[in-house]
Amino acid sequence: MPDIIRMLPESVANQIAAGEVVQRPASAVKELLENTIDAGATEVKLVIKDAGKTLIQVLDNGCGMSERDARMCFERHATSKIQTAHDLLSIRTLGFRGEALASIASVAHVELKTKKAEDEIGSQLVIEGSEVKTHNPVSAPSGTSIQVKNLFFNVPARRNFLKSNTSELKYIIEEFFRVALVHPDISFTMFNQEKVMFQLPSAKLRQRIVALFGSYYNQRLIPVEQQTNMVNISGFICKPEFAKKTRGEQYFFANGRFIRNPYLHHAVETAFQELIPKDSFASYFLYLELDPGNIDVNIHPTKTEVNFTDSKSIYAILHAAVRQALGKYNLTTVLDFEQEKSLELQPLKPGQTIRQPQITINPEYNPFEKKKELQPSLRFENPGKFSPGAGRSGNSATQARQSGNIPSSPLADHIDKLRDEKEPGLDLGPVNIAPTLFQITNSYIVTETSQGLLIIDQQAAHERILYEEILETVAGKLKSSSKIMPVTISFSPDDALLLKDLLGEFEALGFEISDFGNNDFVLQSIPHDLGHTDFHGAVEEVLETIKNELPGKNAGKSQLIARAMAKSAAIKRGMPLKKEEMGAICQKLFACKMPEFSPNGKPAFFVLSFDELKKKFKT
Ligand code: ADP
Ligand code: MG
Repeated sequence: MPDIIRMLPESVANQIAAGEVVQRPASAVKELLENTIDAGATEVKLVIKDAGKTLIQVLDNGCGMSERDARMCFERHATSKIQTAHDLLSIRTLGFRGEALASIASVAHVELKTKKAEDEIGSQLVIEGSEVKTHNPVSAPSGTSIQVKNLFFNVPARRNFLKSNTSELKYIIEEFFRVALVHPDISFTMFNQEKVMFQLPSAKLRQRIVALFGSYYNQRLIPVEQQTNMVNISGFICKPEFAKKTRGEQYFFANGRFIRNPYLHHAVETAFQELIPKDSFASYFLYLELDPGNIDVNIHPTKTEVNFTDSKSIYAILHAAVRQALGKYNLTTVLDFEQEKSLELQPLKPGQTIRQPQITINPEYNPFEKKKELQPSLRFENPGKFSPGAGRSGNSATQARQSGNIPSSPLADHIDKLRDEKEPGLDLGPVNIAPTLFQITNSYIVTETSQGLLIIDQQAAHERILYEEILETVAGKLKSSSKIMPVTISFSPDDALLLKDLLGEFEALGFEISDFGNNDFVLQSIPHDLGHTDFHGAVEEVLETIKNELPGKNAGKSQLIARAMAKSAAIKRGMPLKKEEMGAICQKLFACKMPEFSPNGKPAFFVLSFDELKKKFKT
C-alpha cells in the first residue's frame, strides 16, 4: 500500500482557515480595522463599495511595514504581536493569531501599500488567492493601505451565500461601530459608494456615542464608573425611560475588544429590572478593563467570545455598578425638585457647628414601584377608540361576505349567525352586554352566546381591530388622521435609512413625517386610532419587523407597518378591562373582515359549543 497522507498546499490551508475568520465582508472589515489599531494609527479611513463585495479598503497612518514584513504579513501564523505561548497570557493587542491577512488573501484580490515613517520608500504588493503577483517599491505616505477586491472570487459557494447589499452593509457598519466605540480618540471616516457615511473626529466617549447614534443620545446617557482590584468598569447606560422596543444598543468591551457575553448581559438586564417594561431593552456601552491573565480571548478565531477566570465576581461588580449609576441618576432627579428648598439657608446660632452633608445612595431605589398599579386605568383615555358605533357598522362584514367579497369559513358563518340573531354582547353595544361579559386572567373575554361559550383573546382581537382600521385609512375609507403637537423623533443611522425608504407608506397610513436630516424626523400627524401609541417604540418595532421579514412574500410594506402599529398600540394580555371596554372589543372584532385571526395569524377567539360541553359532562 502506498502512503496516502499529504500536507495540504499552503493556499488550501489558508482557504480552510478563511472559512472561520472571514465569513462575510464585515469580518474582513473587522480584521483590517483591528490591525490599524494595533499599528497605533490615529486616523483611519474605511472605503466600501457594493457592501464590500467589490471593494473594502482600509487606510491608516500607523506604523507601516518594512519591505520584508509586507510579504511576511500574508503568511499564515505570521504575526509581530506575540512570540511565545507565554505571551498569550498578557495580550494587549487585538490581533495575535497571525491568520487574518493570510485568510483574506486566499479568497480575494488584495493590494497592499505600506511605508514605515523612517523609510524613504514604501512597498506595494499584489496577491491573488494566496499567490503573490507583484512586489515593488513604491512611493507612499507613512502608514498602510489595504484593498480587498472581489471577495470570495474563488469560493462561489460563499459568495452566493452572502445576503443583500443592505444586510451586508449593516454588518459592516456594526463592525465599524464596535471599533469606533472603543477608540473615540482615533478619527474614523467611512465612505460608502464614494460618499462619506460617517465622519468621526477624535473625541471623548460621550461625543463619539452621540456622533454614531444621534444628538438625542446626549441627554440619555448616565455614566457608569466602578474601580475594583479585579476589574475596572466604565462607560454609559441609557436612562430607563429611553429603553427600546428592539434590542437597541448593547455593547460590552473587554480590554478594548468588543465581546458578546450573555452572562454579563444578564447582570445589566437584572439591574434595570422593574425600571423598564418587560418587552423593552436597556441600551448600554460598558467597558471592562482587567488583567489580561484573567481573560481568555483565544477560544474562537473571531475573538468576540471570551472566558473570564472569575466571571461570578465580575457579574456581581457589574450589576452593582449599574445599580449604583441608576441610583445616582434617580437621586439627581429628586434633588432637582428640591433645589429651591435647599437654598433657604438658616443663619447659624452661636456655638452651632456645621456637619458635612452626607449623601447615601440607595441603589435599590425604584421610582416606578409605587406607580405600578396605577397604570392600567390610564389606558383608555381616548374615548374615540372604543366608543360604540364609532367606525364601521356591525354588519358590513356580513354583507361583504354574503356579497362574495370575503371568503366564507365555518367560524365566520357562525359569527354571522350570532350577529344576525342579535345576540346580546355582540351587536347591541357595551351597555346591554354587561350581564354576560367577564374576563379571565385579565387576558380573555368570556361571554355566553346561543351557540356556546365565546372566548376572545383580548390582545389578538384588539390587534385585529386596529390593523383593519389602519388599513382602511390607506384605502381612503376613513379620514382619520389627526394633527398633533409636532415631536422630533430620532433613530440610529441604519434605522433612519430604512425609515426614509418607508415614508411614502407611512404617509398613506395617515402619518405625516418629515425627514429633518441627521437621523431626525418630525412627526406632525398620526392616524386617529393610534392616539396613545408610543410612536417612537412603534416605529422601531415596524422597522424591526421589516428587517426580519422581507415585504412581498406574505404582505406588502403597508401591511407590515399596519401590523406592527397595531401590535404596539393594542391592549395586552394581563390588562384588566372594564365591561364597556370588553363590549367594545367584541363589537368591533366581529365587525372586522377577518375576526378569526390576529394580523399575525393567531386565533382571536374560539367557541366552546354546548354540544362539546354536553359531551364533556356525558349528558
Ligand atoms: P495578527 O493581527 O493576528 O498579527 P494579521 O494577519 O491580521 O495577524 O496581520 C499580520 C501582521 O501584519 C501583523 O502582526 C502586523 O505586524 C502586520 N500588519 C497588519 N496590518 C497592519 C497595518 N495596518 N499596519 C501595520 N502592520 C500591519
Ligand atoms: Mg490582525
